[in-house]
Amino acid sequence: MPRSTTPTWHCDYDACPICTAPERDEMTLLRCAILTLLDQGRWMTNDEIPLPDILSAGGDYLSRLRDAVGDGIPVPAVEHWAWLDAELRLVVACAAGLDAVSTLDPRIDKVLATAARRTSRGQVKLLDLAAKQFAELYTRPRTA
Ligand SMILES: [Zn+2]
Repeated sequence: MPRSTTPTWHCDYDACPICTAPERDEMTLLRCAILTLLDQGRWMTNDEIPLPDILSAGGDYLSRLRDAVGDGIPVPAVEHWAWLDAELRLVVACAAGLDAVSTLDPRIDKVLATAARRTSRGQVKLLDLAAKQFAELYTRPRTA
């Protein structure tokens, strides 16, 4: 990702692990958006919204959420929405045990289809784990 002069994002959630991480850049908004979607996904799962629906149209969902809730909700630019969906699917597939590193990994679909057959409790656990792994990935001190 090229460096830009976009001001760094900070959401309303004081304890957001992404927004309170020491290293923040223009990707902070996108990472915060993924974490927000994983968190929202837990509620959607409880409402029996199917996993594939939870993992798609995230940008649209966040923009409607901001309309309802107000500022403090991360809403990426429209041109990043496809990226957001792809990353979200990758993060959840990895939490389900897939060793994928690319959003283009052809196995992601199958892993997510299997995950979608879990009970809603199982899906909440999966989304929790995905959020935990994702937050750890971007908040642990960089060694390189
Ligand atoms: Zn945040």
